[in-house]
Amino acid sequence: MSTMLTKTCNLHVRLAATTCYNLVRQIGNDLPGWVVDIDNANSYTASWTHRGCFISASVVSINNDESSINFAIRSPGQIFDPFGQLDKMLDQIVQPFQSQASRLQEVERQKQIQQGTMCPKCNKPLPSGARFCPFDGTPIGHECPKCKHVNIPTADFCADCGAKL
Ligand SMILES: [Zn+2]
Ligand SMILES: [Zn+2]
Repeated sequence: MSTMLTKTCNLHVRLAATTCYNLVRQIGNDLPGWVVDIDNANSYTASWTHRGCFISASVVSINNDESSINFAIRSPGQIFDPFGQLDKMLDQIVQPFQSQASRLQEVERQKQIQQGTMCPKCNKPLPSGARFCPFDGTPIGHECPKCKHVNIPTADFCADCGAKL
């Protein structure tokens, strides 16, 4: 009977599957000592090998801007991991992925707030042209400092009084 120790980690991120895949590939390919084993852009699956161990990352698209990603480390011939070495090896890819993914998510969030497609307070998607968030009433766009009129997010001047925004 062949033995194999496997540890996994599953993350959910608000990023498109291609973005996640490109990010995880870049991190995995830069891991010192690890060599590319599988790189399948069609199934968003990549794996790397080092001293008989394998790390794999598989991205599943939930929708246009949400994905889940499954990380796994497999060590054939190993049953126990008393020093948590496999977890540490897996963390080499999971931790940079988490920090870079959260940075990219924040960039994406700011972009959507700028475009008026996401509420800055509750982060829910907004119907196009919304002036207020339908979920919590947050004014969307540029509020005029002079007359308090709420302009579209991209406005440079107030549509009501002409003040510079
Ligand atoms: Zn809201
Ligand atoms: Zn105004």
